[in-house]
Amino acid sequence: MSNNRALRSGDRLENGSLINLQALTGESLLEKERRLSEMILQLQMVRDQLLNQQQLHTKVHRGNRNSFDEMKCLVGVIFKLRGQLLNLNFNVARDEAVHLCSMCNQFAVEDTFHYVSVCPVLSEFRVRWLGKKALSESECIEYLNGSDWDKLYNYHMRAWKYRSFLIQEYNT
Ligand SMILES: [Zn+2]
Repeated sequence: MSNNRALRSGDRLENGSLINLQALTGESLLEKERRLSEMILQLQMVRDQLLNQQQLHTKVHRGNRNSFDEMKCLVGVIFKLRGQLLNLNFNVARDEAVHLCSMCNQFAVEDTFHYVSVCPVLSEFRVRWLGKKALSESECIEYLNGSDWDKLYNYHMRAWKYRSFLIQEYNT
């Protein structure tokens, strides 16, 4: 009967390996599994919220660009992205050991290209705002050069929030 409980709490996990492990090793993993399910649920909620958010900036930027503050915000973001000025893990001033992306654990250096174009943890944000799961190097450069700053801006605003959430919550 305890298996039913485990199945219920674990059915959000894509594969059943944790459930099987729990059955083998007894109750000690149950709490971990429950916490993991909660974390996954929480991450999904945050991600979905960010994906669904009606972005004020989108309307403002599409409608009119008269607002100086709004322009300043967009320009500031693009300036940071183009100049590698975001506070990503890759930074020449930091030790090489901490340059790797801590979100995807793919042993990739977390530079602007990784963040904007390929980090799989951010792929749904890319699909939503840039139309693809991943960008090539030349596609990334096109965006940075201004092919569609609105899209890049919208991607960044949500992706950055999600990244901050992950780092803050899970200290990844
Ligand atoms: Zn990554």
